[in-house]
Amino acid sequence: MTIGPPLWLLAELTYRCPLHCVFCYNPVDYATQPEELSTDDWLRVLREGREMGAVQLGLSGGEPLLRDDLEVIVAEAHRLGYYSNLLTSGVGLTAERAAALKAAGLDHVQLSFQDSTREMNDFLSHTRTFELKNRVAQIIKDQGWPMVMNVVLHRLNIDHIGRIIEMAAELGAEYIELANTQYYSWAFVNRAQLLPTQEQLKRAEAVTDEWRDKLEGRMRIFFVAPDYHEGKAKKCVNGWGSMFLTVAPDGTALPCHTAKMLPGLSFPNVRETSLRTAWFDSEGFNRFRGTGWMKEPCSSCEHKEEDLGGCRCQAYLIAQDAQAADPVCRKSPHHDKVLAVVAQAEADARTRITEHPLVFRDPKASRRLAGAI
Ligand code: SF4
Ligand code: SF4
Repeated sequence: MTIGPPLWLLAELTYRCPLHCVFCYNPVDYATQPEELSTDDWLRVLREGREMGAVQLGLSGGEPLLRDDLEVIVAEAHRLGYYSNLLTSGVGLTAERAAALKAAGLDHVQLSFQDSTREMNDFLSHTRTFELKNRVAQIIKDQGWPMVMNVVLHRLNIDHIGRIIEMAAELGAEYIELANTQYYSWAFVNRAQLLPTQEQLKRAEAVTDEWRDKLEGRMRIFFVAPDYHEGKAKKCVNGWGSMFLTVAPDGTALPCHTAKMLPGLSFPNVRETSLRTAWFDSEGFNRFRGTGWMKEPCSSCEHKEEDLGGCRCQAYLIAQDAQAADPVCRKSPHHDKVLAVVAQAEADARTRITEHPLVFRDPKASRRLAGAI
């Protein structure tokens, strides 16, 4: 197969974050990860990415604003011709810092909220950040940036979806991404508490449709459906090693930000390997490219080019086999495990009882979970 360039470069500048989200997508063992890349390393990564043809740059974390050199990184991205997007919780985005980032050439900001209510926003992130996020939304507008608001949906906030959309419109967002939780990393640990019911999802989609009509032409609404309930696998990261290249804080180059969890697979580090070699020649990037790696039922399936067998991390987490069909797919021999989890969520939601207490992301929990991996 022909391998194209990585069009999207995601620079995960740090795993440090002042928030403690129960659905955090950072690895559960983040607190045991090695040192972050230096400024010079990141500038080299940006140059190499651009030489390969990358055009979009995501600056994420953790909280990328915790890096003092963010302005330097943004300025270099601008000089190289990237379209840069800052993915932030808002913590640390003062008016002064926003002005400096604007002057450095930052193109776009994606601000995350946990909910439309102060109580749930602050509970889910285990911080008092709701008012701060509202102020930051204004700061983003004052700089003239297009604003994307991102809200991760789950059982505890999905019933507020109408108010969430209304809040985004009031704050002047051009676009809201309502992303149902993907169950890996911290969300996998907290899955029993976070998985919504079928009824909640149906209502949420209906409310979203009503708001789409109401806000037509003013704000775009993107609803990411949950794959556990759909019985269908999704083309993860648009195909392994086909478009996205993530560089983790310690310099590990990855086809998606959670792929490092897959056992027996080695990924190169940009401290020792060029981005080009990592992308085209490394075992990690080539292992699940295309369809040649597949086994049954994927290898003979008529949908294999559409979804490329779904998510490898989900296959590993649920079936303990990274080469298996994504268990969310009805044809997977492990699909019963997904159905059982969905049924349990229905039962727990009815009784409001679950055996699993929520685990908030923090270094202590991370070190404990790292010991269990
Ligand atoms: S999901 Fe929450 S805790 Fe995780 S990096 Fe984002 S803001 Fe921080
Ligand atoms: S069997 Fe594999 S390729 Fe076919 S729909 Fe399911 S996940 Fe996709």
